[in-house]
Amino acid sequence: LNRRLNEFTSTIFAEMSALAVQTGAINLGQGFPDTDGPADILQAAKDAIDAGINQYPPGPGIPELRTAIASHQHRFYGLTYDPDTEVLVTAGATEAIAASMLALLEPGDEVVALEPYYDSYAATIAMAGAVRVPVTLRAPDFTLDLDELAAAITPKTRLLLINTPHNPTGAVLSLPQLQQIARLAIERDLIVVTDEVYEHMTFGTPHIPLATIDGMRERTVTISSCGKTFSVTGWKIGWVCASPPLVAAVRAAKQFLTYVSGAPFQPAIATALALPDSFYEGLSIDLKSKRDRLCVGLAAAGFDVFTPAGTYFVTTDVRGLGYDDGIAFCRDLPSRCGVVAVPSVVFYDDKDEGRSLVRFAFCKKDAVLDEAIDRLMTLR
Ligand code: GLN
Repeated sequence: LNRRLNEFTSTIFAEMSALAVQTGAINLGQGFPDTDGPADILQAAKDAIDAGINQYPPGPGIPELRTAIASHQHRFYGLTYDPDTEVLVTAGATEAIAASMLALLEPGDEVVALEPYYDSYAATIAMAGAVRVPVTLRAPDFTLDLDELAAAITPKTRLLLINTPHNPTGAVLSLPQLQQIARLAIERDLIVVTDEVYEHMTFGTPHIPLATIDGMRERTVTISSCGKTFSVTGWKIGWVCASPPLVAAVRAAKQFLTYVSGAPFQPAIATALALPDSFYEGLSIDLKSKRDRLCVGLAAAGFDVFTPAGTYFVTTDVRGLGYDDGIAFCRDLPSRCGVVAVPSVVFYDDKDEGRSLVRFAFCKKDAVLDEAIDRLMTLR
């Protein structure tokens, strides 16, 4: 293994999901729902297979899906993208992130990213030979400190990597914060890559795409995917919306990573994106009640709980339960009470900051959450 990838030999999600299978524990670690997406959408993929949509789709994605993505951006955010030149379909948001890093960075460039960060950010920045520069979001509310962000930007900074709603903290960037990010990006002439896969999962503060802020559309690569919104994390249909030169750049890398993917899922996701508002509203109402259910349970079980404004994750501090170290806590948890969670420290460069934090996913059936809470209550 080369030096660039030396520190990335395994992912915490695979490790913790394997532990859950091995111990029969309830898996609140890796973020995936235990209920599949809408039946009509599942049927649309089966119909597509039956209709013979099983060979390579067009490189940028099928036109029907690119049009549906552009319509979604317009319907929810008033953003206009040309489906032919400003939208690219990818193999999940994961490929969109990797292709963006590989396409937009020169070796030695610096990328300023919000820490804790989703694990593929650090790995793909490294694959591009670039250097990550974290700006830390701190408990209890994980607000972005704009002075720290400004201080992290140097003459070597090429891009900002933003994620809102934010995994793992559940923070949702506010309009004034986004405006400040925009001001810095414009002043320092930076590209911004923004990962908005949890765009429809907010519980009060609505999601605001960075591309809607004045002056940002032309310098922003917006990434999202079908996995969270439509509860089909295994389908791996993602997308990029950006100006033509940025989409062309990302596409140059994408075409040699997977070339294309997910032929029969592409028309199904085109259908899904056109679901009525009631679907999208139902999604966040449902998740909000799950959030509250798990947060109340975790607090009763003795965790310090940082209630999230978005995503399907909640961050907790385990010091009240007699642990300084979230990794030790998560290793013990399956045998102590049959639950799996993720130690948030793996998302931090600043290990002290993340040491005692543990992330739980609440995208699970109510009965599963209740059972997990019952088990966690035995920790007291
Ligand atoms: N995004 C999911 C999480 O944060 C997992 C994705 C993965 O396993 N790569 O838990």
